[in-house]
Parts: sequence; structure tokens; C-alpha cells
Amino acid sequence: MSAATEIKQVQPRAAVLAMPEYHPPLASRALLRLDFNENTFAPSPRVFAKLQSLTAEGLTIYPEREHAEAGVAAHFGLQTSEVLLTNGVDEAIHLLACAFLEPEDEVLLCTPSFFMYDVSCSMMTRHLVRVQAEDSFAFPLERMLAAITPRTKLIMIATPNNPTGQTVSRAQMQQLCAAAPQAVVFADEAYFHFHGESSLDDVPAVPNLMVGRTFSKAYGLANLRLGMLAGPARLINFVRKVASPYNVNGIALAVLPEALADEAYVAWYVAQVHAGRERMFAALKELGVRTWPSAANFVLMDIGARHKELCERMRTRGVLLRDRSADPGCEGYVRITLGVEEHVTRGIAALQAVLTEMQWSPAEGRA
Ligand code: PMP
Repeated sequence: MSAATEIKQVQPRAAVLAMPEYHPPLASRALLRLDFNENTFAPSPRVFAKLQSLTAEGLTIYPEREHAEAGVAAHFGLQTSEVLLTNGVDEAIHLLACAFLEPEDEVLLCTPSFFMYDVSCSMMTRHLVRVQAEDSFAFPLERMLAAITPRTKLIMIATPNNPTGQTVSRAQMQQLCAAAPQAVVFADEAYFHFHGESSLDDVPAVPNLMVGRTFSKAYGLANLRLGMLAGPARLINFVRKVASPYNVNGIALAVLPEALADEAYVAWYVAQVHAGRERMFAALKELGVRTWPSAANFVLMDIGARHKELCERMRTRGVLLRDRSADPGCEGYVRITLGVEEHVTRGIAALQAVLTEMQWSPAEGRA
């Protein structure tokens, strides 16, 4: 190719060239999916009944969000102006980066955590400041506070955290907000239901706090792509400016009131996960696998050098796991999702069989 032709080639922004890529598997997951922390079973039957009542004509209409958005706000005791429905929390993260970050701004992250923070923020700025969690994966509050500078504009924190299952308390979140009044502090509560503590009651009193919730996990609606961003009306307004008015589809909007209303279903699913978590911890302890306490619907396991082999052998047995070995401080670690009783039982049985056939020894973890 001549130099002249090269110059004519379209180039993206420099930030896009440099940003990391996220490639989750987008096919071949028709197995027991213990890899993505989804609900392993189904949403509320009320959601499915509503879906079946939808008409063909309904598909012709651009989504009308007002009713569902007002319903969500009322459900959480907020004003409609304090809530924005999003295409999953993924989109909320993207919109926060678009709305608030200048190229010279700093983003403060605690690692390891959810990779989409890196993806969305590095689209806007090169200045991602990462603070590594403690060896126990506990939240490094003091070091996070010390890393705040006048240029810190966005702080993104998952609680419970993915992939570690560790939590950040509401009081710690308040401390971060107070220490960085020039920054948006985003509390990503995608796994809130499996834990129970939330910062949502601090909205809108804390002027720089925004909270994310998803319908992909406990509610079992990952395929509809539905999330919520809550925050003071002033900040929500900025985010709404950069969002499409049709970012959430009408099918998701139609079933949302049913999902919210069926609190008994969510409570049942969370109880299944809690019982499964206890059984998984007990089984892993018996196998000699090191784990960390988890407040979420997954457990991180220390497998050691043969982490990849474990995932491959589990796949052969029909169970998907997530290899987290590439995450900072997670070498040799694999994550397993918890679901309903039957799925946890299958997950445990497959782990027992595979670790035995690998002749895996506890000394391989902790290495
Ligand atoms: N935040 C965290 C911490 C997550 O683990 C995930 C899902 N893996 C998300 C956000 C994205 O959720 P959603 O499906 O709502 O986009």
C-alpha cells in the first residue's frame, strides 16, 4: 500500500485505538452457565406471562419509557427526575464516562473489578488510576482516599465486587463522596440483592453519589438489557442528555412493573443462592480449594497453574466456569456462579469429579 493510500484510511480517535477490548463469549453457551453470574433459572412467572400477552403491533412502536421510569422511581422512593433506565448497567457505565470525563480527568478504580469500567473510561481519558485491593481482596479505603486528586472526576466501585465478592460499606461510600466532591462516585450495586446493604438511601442527599442497579442478576432478565441509574436530578440530567431516548426497548419496559412487583420471586431466588453459597463453600473446603468470603452470587476459587485445564474439563462435562486468571492479583483463580439448588448440585458434582480426575492437590492453589 502506498503512503498516499494509508493517509486516506479512516482512523478512530487515538483513545479508541489505545483502549482495551472486552470479548465475552457470544456463542456456544447452551450448557450449565456458571460463568456470567446470571440467574441460572428464569425470571418471575409474572414477567413471562406479561411477555406472552404482548402484541405484534406493539413491536412497531418506539419505546415509551415514562410510565416504567416513574414506576421504578416510586418503587425505590425516588423522584422520576432522580432515575434513568439504561440498557443494562453496562450502558450506565458508558454514559457516565461520556457525560463526565474530559481527556485530562482521572478515573479512580479499585482492582480487580468489573472490566467495563476500564473499557468505557479509557474511551474518554488515558488517566485511569488503579488501586489494588488488599491481599484478602478487602476494599483498600485508605489507599483509595489517598489516591484522590483535584483531577479525580469519576470513582467507580462495585459492591459486592466482581470477581471477588467483597463489599464496600455505605459509610465507606459516604467517605469517598465527601473526600472527592468534584467527582461522581458510582456505586455499582449489580449484586445488591445477594448482599443487602445499599447506598440508594443516600440519593439524592449526597450531591455526587450515583447508584447502579441491574435487572440481569436476581431478576433474571439479562437478555432484556435493563438497568437503573439513580442520582441527584442535576447529575441524572447530564447523563440523560447523552443517552438515546430509546436506549431501553419496549419489551423490557412492559415487563419491568411485573418484575418489581413480584418481590416474593426475588426473595425466593436470593434464598436459593444463599443456600447454594453455603453448600459450595462447604464442598470447596472439603476439596481443599481456597476461597474468599462472597456477598454475591458467585465464589472465587484458587486453582493454581491448571486453571485453564479445570475450565476446559468442566466445559466437557457441560458446566461453564469463568477463568479470572488474567485479572490483577487473580493468577490461577476461577469464578463459579451460584444459582438454584439443582444447578449448584450439578456444579459441585462436576467440580468434585473434575478435580479428582485431574488428581488436583490443594498445594497447587496457594502456590
Ligand atoms: N456491574 C458489574 C459489577 C457486573 O458484574 C455486571 C455484569 N457482569 C454489570 C455491571 C453489567 O450488568 P448489566 O447486565 O446490567 O449490564
